Amino acid sequence: MPAYDPNNIFAKILRGELPCYKVYEDDKALAFLDIMPRAPGHTLVLPKAPARNILDVPPDDLAHVAKVAQKIAKAAMTALGADGITVQQFNEGPGGQVVFHLHVHVIPRMAGVPMKPPAEFKEKPEALAEMAKTLMAALAAG
Ligand code: AMP
Repeated sequence: MPAYDPNNIFAKILRGELPCYKVYEDDKALAFLDIMPRAPGHTLVLPKAPARNILDVPPDDLAHVAKVAQKIAKAAMTALGADGITVQQFNEGPGGQVVFHLHVHVIPRMAGVPMKPPAEFKEKPEALAEMAKTLMAALAAG
């Protein structure tokens, strides 16, 4: 497996060199909206420490990302009135991974609404900003 590339786009977001629509942050993880959501509220959860994917991440960092993914899933159920949640995580190119800093997709689902195909639809900045505000408020409320 190739080494971690510190110039990947999520590493730049983590360093504050690129913007994101932040949903949640603590000392070990950051969560922000996917700008090409497969459904409204599609969120990515990342460990702050460098890790390419599930194959090199320290188990404690992976466990923390899972905890944050659960928080976001619960917040999306209440704040967005979702009917379900799809969680996805891809590893290496053949496994479907495009950005090589570990991330977990948390995708709120509505009954009867299929997910959009990956990278098909770029959401409007205003809609992303509003969604981030909604999810962040729900997370803050616990
Ligand atoms: P994958 O590596 O296959 O899990 O996919 C990477 C995901 O990152 C895709 O769903 C993209 O839409 C998303 N993505 C790419 N660039 C950005 C960005 N700058 N901000 C938020 N999401 C992004």
